[in-house]
Amino acid sequence: MSARKVGARKVGAARKRAVTSPATLALRPKRIRPALLAWYRAQRRDLPWRRTRDPYAIWVSEIMLQQTRVETVIPFYERFLDKFPTVDALASADEDDVLAAWSGLGYYRRARGLHAAASIVAREHSGTFPDHPTELRALPGIGEYTAAAIASIAFGREAAAVDGNVVRVLARIHGLRGTRDSARLKSDVTRLAHALARGPAPGDWTQALMELGAMVCLPRPKCEECPVARACDAHRSGDASRYPEPARKPEPRAAVEVLLLARRGRSIYLEKAATRTGITWTLPSVTTRESAASLGFKPLGEPLTSFRHRTYAHDLRIEVLAATASRSRRGRWFTPDDLDGLPLRAPTLKAIKRLRLLSS
Ligand code: SF4
Repeated sequence: MSARKVGARKVGAARKRAVTSPATLALRPKRIRPALLAWYRAQRRDLPWRRTRDPYAIWVSEIMLQQTRVETVIPFYERFLDKFPTVDALASADEDDVLAAWSGLGYYRRARGLHAAASIVAREHSGTFPDHPTELRALPGIGEYTAAAIASIAFGREAAAVDGNVVRVLARIHGLRGTRDSARLKSDVTRLAHALARGPAPGDWTQALMELGAMVCLPRPKCEECPVARACDAHRSGDASRYPEPARKPEPRAAVEVLLLARRGRSIYLEKAATRTGITWTLPSVTTRESAASLGFKPLGEPLTSFRHRTYAHDLRIEVLAATASRSRRGRWFTPDDLDGLPLRAPTLKAIKRLRLLSS
């Protein structure tokens, strides 16, 4: 047998050994929990939301940390809590003030959810945060992960908070194969996470797993610094970064989008849209000519222009139709000069350029 074949067999055998048996899984919490908790208590970063048990403050931090880095969140978190120190203060604030305090953090849907949830807590729970994950999940903007994080960190409940980092960490420790986005892997990890969540100090445990995923068990893991390396199957396999496998990139989905161009003299009508990066302005958008009436527009004639626009998820064919507005909506009319420097959604900017509607 060639040396290459022998090598390949050894690697295959190592990978097979990396797959954990059910009996081993049952033993894991006893080994992992104390080591990881001790490491967390000695090494944890001093973050402002770790100095409090106030559920409101912890909730704000968890919402801000969704899709945003810790270093970015810290100044926003401190300013936000200075301005809205309690759930009642947030509930009674104007939405525009809440969005202004959020400005620069992106994903404005989170700010709207926070504001709506604060109103519900103030109105229906007399300002006291519910402490059970199921009740927390009933609030706007709080999903399974955030509910479990708040319940464990603020209320000491044994709840398993499973996000992408936790999937990566537990898949590696337990040698679970599968792609990062696989439902099977997520469900296997969730089952393990629930088993591991049982025990003392649930809040510290949740944060210890998060901290390991954020500081050590990174996409390129620093196994030499890891407190659970001796119990980790992926580390033993010799190439921990292979766990979990990368998600397969989806093919962009073909779709049609119709942009409605209403004009009043040289002015055009645009509406405000909240995006990941902030507020932009867009021509009113529908999926078919027929649905324009639902927005209060009547399309006129053939498309003025059409073009393709690709995003990560979509391959769009954009058609721009002249339209009359039959009722006023929340948008505004803009002259060509007003459009200069205005943040515009990419397809709207393309349409405006193609139709030469800018002043220069
Ligand atoms: Fe992650 Fe490496 Fe630690 Fe395993 S040993 S949990 S792969 S950092």
